[in-house]
Amino acid sequence: MTAKMNASLEKNLKTVYAVLDEVERYNHASRVLGFDQQTICPPLGMEEQGETSAFLSNKAFQLTKSKKFISAAEDLYANRKLLNEWDRALADSLHRDYLRNKNVTPAMDKQFSLIFNKAFVNWIQAKKNADFSIFADSLAQVRKVNLKQIALAENAKRVPYDNLLDIYERGMTTKDLKKCFDACKERLVPMLQKIQKSKKKIRTDFLSRKVTDESQREMAKYLLQTMGFDFKRGAFTTSEHPFTDGIAPDDARVTTHYYENMFASSMFSIIHEGGHALFEMNQPRENFAHHIQYCKTLGQHESVSRFYENRIGRSRAFVHLIFKKCKEIFPTVFEDVSEKQFYEALNVVEPSLIRTEADEFTYTFHIIIRFEIEQMIVNGNVDIQSLPQIWNDKYEEYLGVRPGNDREGILQDVHWTSGFGYFPTYSLGNMYNAMYYNKMKEEIDVDDCILHGDFGTINGWMKEYVWKFADRMDSKTWIKKITGREFTVNDFLDYVEKKYGELYGV
Ligand SMILES: [Zn+2]
Repeated sequence: MTAKMNASLEKNLKTVYAVLDEVERYNHASRVLGFDQQTICPPLGMEEQGETSAFLSNKAFQLTKSKKFISAAEDLYANRKLLNEWDRALADSLHRDYLRNKNVTPAMDKQFSLIFNKAFVNWIQAKKNADFSIFADSLAQVRKVNLKQIALAENAKRVPYDNLLDIYERGMTTKDLKKCFDACKERLVPMLQKIQKSKKKIRTDFLSRKVTDESQREMAKYLLQTMGFDFKRGAFTTSEHPFTDGIAPDDARVTTHYYENMFASSMFSIIHEGGHALFEMNQPRENFAHHIQYCKTLGQHESVSRFYENRIGRSRAFVHLIFKKCKEIFPTVFEDVSEKQFYEALNVVEPSLIRTEADEFTYTFHIIIRFEIEQMIVNGNVDIQSLPQIWNDKYEEYLGVRPGNDREGILQDVHWTSGFGYFPTYSLGNMYNAMYYNKMKEEIDVDDCILHGDFGTINGWMKEYVWKFADRMDSKTWIKKITGREFTVNDFLDYVEKKYGELYGV
């Protein structure tokens, strides 16, 4: 590298960093507002707050539209080979955004945000009234925005749905997913039939025994502490829908929701969100210095939350670890329940209507249904009005259950208020963590660590192999780096067959 080239790269990096520092100030404020809106903001204050949030995002968007910024970022991309791997990841990410947004003017960006906002408001109303017709027009508008975004992208891919997937899970294609989900259907459909015919009876009555919010809060705190959540760098509270927000390097927040007759729901949502928070808390500091801390894919993130929720949280070893504490915090629930019964109840397979409450086994079907419907929507070969019917038919076909209304059917999830292509990342998460769990098992005795509450060793392994490289790689490269193998759905299917085969004796 010549001295001159070196100096110009340095200068461009400085320019890009300076703009991103400012962008980050706006985004940081937006995230705090967003967290407030979902936790404590009064209903009538929401609209104004939404507008302030849109204002700040638009400011940040405009900053990245300056000629100076774009030319510096594009120059970095052109010389990406000369950069260190952190800055190369940044240059790649800016280049992707640039191609995607080059033809999107700030006015269009604002218009898209307003359509998504309106869709959100209409969805809330529609869900409340269990009436899809209130949301139908918004859904059509969201489809239009997504198609327009694809048409405007400079790097558009031939398969329309691939462009949307790429936003959440870069590198994955519709073809990859179809292959995975076909394999899931082939192996899980017959297995579900066997499970349903099995004579095994699993007792679940005690899961609906009443407990107070206060005791659930104590349990949530205990679980977060157990898994290694750092309360000096994280906070937790409640919201309608549990979520995690990586707000700043030393500020990761999680929420949960307490139902008096469903204590296990808040236990496992806090473990899930706690997993997301551990990922945020334990990423390399360099991610922030090089502005790549939000380059993780959603599938990578979900792999971690589901690793803690399912692979660890629903294991025999973990139930053994927490059982004493459960009896202490919820004495009336567990007075006549054994550890084995609790383990089995947490893993009961029961086809149901609501994705977020689905068991680990049937969860994949909820995603397959959404994946198939999303493709129909994006490809334009479906009438929006007929979607509730299609939704209900697919639930009947795959799970043998039929929603009684739109609230427990097509209106249950918020995701379609801001576009399509998100859902498959949940399933991909299960597939990634099945692969790295197998790798981890070769190196440490995972069950023994869990039995002894040794999360230092587990989290240490995650930090070194799973969390460290995520922001610098697409998920296929990343999973290969961790496991030494190409991405496959087989580890996940083998795990599910073994676990539920043993549980149900099939
Ligand atoms: Zn999640």
